[in-house]
Amino acid sequence: MKFGGTSVADGERIKNVAALVKAGKPPAVVVVSAMSGVTDSLVKISKKVIDLPSDVVEREVDAFCRELLIRHREAAMEAVSDKKSRSRVLEEIIVFTDKLKVALLGVGYLEDLSPKSSDYILSFGERLNSLIVSGAIESLGLKSCALTGFEAGIVTDSSHGRAKVLYKMMKQEVSAKLKPLLEDGFTPVVTGFIAADEKGSITTLGRGGSDYSASLLGAALGADEVQIWTDVDGILTTDPKLVPDAKLIGTLSYVEALDLGYFGAKVIHSKMIEPAMDADIPVRVKNTFNPGCAGTLIVREQEKIEGIIKAVAIAKNVVILTLTGVGMAATPNIAGRLFSVLGCANINIMMISGSSESNLSFVVSESDVDAAVGLLEAEFGEDIVNGLSIMKDTSIITVVGAGMHGAKGIAARIFTTVSDAGVNLIMIAQGSSEVNIAFMINNGDVERCVRALHDKFIV
Ligand code: ADP
Ligand code: ASP
Ligand code: MG
Repeated sequence: MKFGGTSVADGERIKNVAALVKAGKPPAVVVVSAMSGVTDSLVKISKKVIDLPSDVVEREVDAFCRELLIRHREAAMEAVSDKKSRSRVLEEIIVFTDKLKVALLGVGYLEDLSPKSSDYILSFGERLNSLIVSGAIESLGLKSCALTGFEAGIVTDSSHGRAKVLYKMMKQEVSAKLKPLLEDGFTPVVTGFIAADEKGSITTLGRGGSDYSASLLGAALGADEVQIWTDVDGILTTDPKLVPDAKLIGTLSYVEALDLGYFGAKVIHSKMIEPAMDADIPVRVKNTFNPGCAGTLIVREQEKIEGIIKAVAIAKNVVILTLTGVGMAATPNIAGRLFSVLGCANINIMMISGSSESNLSFVVSESDVDAAVGLLEAEFGEDIVNGLSIMKDTSIITVVGAGMHGAKGIAARIFTTVSDAGVNLIMIAQGSSEVNIAFMINNGDVERCVRALHDKFIV
C-alpha cells in the first residue's frame, strides 16, 4: 500500500492512512512519500543556500529546519496517540532535522551541491514521514517499524538522482529483510523514492518514484496486489486539474497505464509498471479521500472499448531539439551516437522524429536541455551543434487506448479534431504498440486541445 504526498499531508491525513492500513487486513507493506510539498522545499533550500553569503546561510538553514521540525512534530502529536511511540517518534524527528541541518550547512559553506549530497538531503522528507506513519499504525495496536528503502532491500547503482535498481540483488535483499518482519506480524513502513547503492550511500529513484518503490517491493515479495493510494479516484480519462469532468477508468492494461504515466499522467509513475507486469501483480489506484470507490485496476489484458480512446495525457515543460544541416549527413551514425551519449547521462528522450538524413528532432524534459546540449557539443563538435535549434514552451499530448491497435482512420480523426480546435501540430509520433498516438503542440494550446479531444472521443 503506497500513500502519496497529499494522503499524508498532515496528522489528520496520516491517521486516516493508518486506519486504511488496518482496515486493509494486514499483512501489508506500507510505502510512504514525503508530506506534500516537502520534497520540493528540500530541492529549493538546497539550491538556495549555495548562493547565500555564509553569514546568512546559518539563519536560513535554521529557519527552514525549524519549520520542518514543527510541521512534522505537529503531525506526530496528532497522529501518534500511543505515548511511548509518540515520544520515540518525536525524539527521532529531532535527530533527523539536526542531521539535515548539518548537511544543508555543509552545502551552504562549501557552495557545492553534488547529486550525492542532493539525494541525501531529499531523503529526509520520506524518512521523517515514515516515522510518523509507523507510529500512527502502532497507535492502532499493530506492530510496525519504519525502514528506509535500502533497509527494506532496495539496492541501486550509484547514479544519484535517477538511480537504476540492481534487480537480482534487490529481490534477494527484500525477501531477506521484509519477510521475517511480516512473519513476525509487523507492518513495515518503507520510505518511497529513496534507496541506496551497494556501499549504502543514499540514492533516489527520480521524482515521483515512490510508486516505483511500491511495485519493486510488491514484485519482490510476490504480493497479491500493489495499491497506489492518492488524491483522486483512480486513473481518469485526463488530468482532472485541466478537465474537471474527467471520468474514472475502471480497468486499464499495463501497457496503457505505462504509456499514460510515461507521457505525463502524474497519477502513476511509468517505471512502476514493469516490476508489476513482470510478476503479473495487479495494480490498483485508489483515493484516500474516497476509499469506498473501487478505483482503477491495472492488469495484463487489453480491453478494447467502443470509443477506442481511453485517456489523454499531457506532458508539460518539454523541449524539442532539432539537428539540421549538411554536416549531419556527413557524420556517421549520428542517431546512434546521440542516443547513446544522452542515454549514458541518464537523459530520457521522450519522442523522436526524423524526416531525412539532415534532420533529426527529439524531445527532452526542460530540466535536461542544458545538459543535453553540452553533451552534444562534446560529442559532435560545434559544426554540427551550430545547426541545433531549441523550441521551448511545448507540450506532448498523448491519446491512449488499446482499441487503437488495428483501428483504421483513428489518427485522421484525432488530427482533424485537433485542427478543428485551431491547434497547430508541431511533431507527431506513434508508438509501435499502437496503444498511443503522441504529438507536440504549444503550451498555450494545451487546454483547448485536450478539451476538444476529450469532448469528441470520451464524453
Ligand atoms: P501522489 O502524491 O499521491 O503521488 P500525484 O500528485 O503524484 O499524487 O498524482 C496525482 C495527481 O495526478 C492528481 O491529483 C491529478 O491532478 C494528476 N493526474 C494527471 N493525469 C491524471 C489522470 N489521467 N488521472 C488521474 N490523475 C491525473
Ligand atoms: N517525494 C518524492 C517526490 O516528491 C517522491 C514521491 O512523492 O513519489 O518526488
Ligand atoms: Mg506521485
